[in-house]
Amino acid sequence: MDKFAKVDPAQAKPVPEALHKLFNDPSKVKVQPLPCEIPDVGSKAVHFEAGARTMPHRHAKGQHIIVTDGVGVVADEEHVHVVRPGDVISSPPGGWHWHGATPTTAMSHVTIEDPGLDLDVERGNWDEAYTPDLGR
Ligand code: MN
Repeated sequence: MDKFAKVDPAQAKPVPEALHKLFNDPSKVKVQPLPCEIPDVGSKAVHFEAGARTMPHRHAKGQHIIVTDGVGVVADEEHVHVVRPGDVISSPPGGWHWHGATPTTAMSHVTIEDPGLDLDVERGNWDEAYTPDLGR
């Protein structure tokens, strides 16, 4: 039988302690676990308040991201991409990236990934690319 869920910030919870290091400001992020019937794969909705984003990281087996609300950013080694509802981003295994809200707008996305995560990576464009006009 299929499982159904709805992306809903009201069902989201504070970031689990184990994931605090993934975010620049965990207090501005909420996570909604989603059912995922695909073996060894997890899914969640992540709601970022303005100014909240992940630290740079790599997913050992990649990550699929579907933007559901707001305006946000997904940055890889080459670009900082402004993303909006309906945008789908697929990061390959080991791909370097970071993602979240813009400095002035909230963003929600759904992720689908293997739980493996590597935070011990270079900062890359994380510091200089996050300017106040991003997404305007
Ligand atoms: Mn990611």
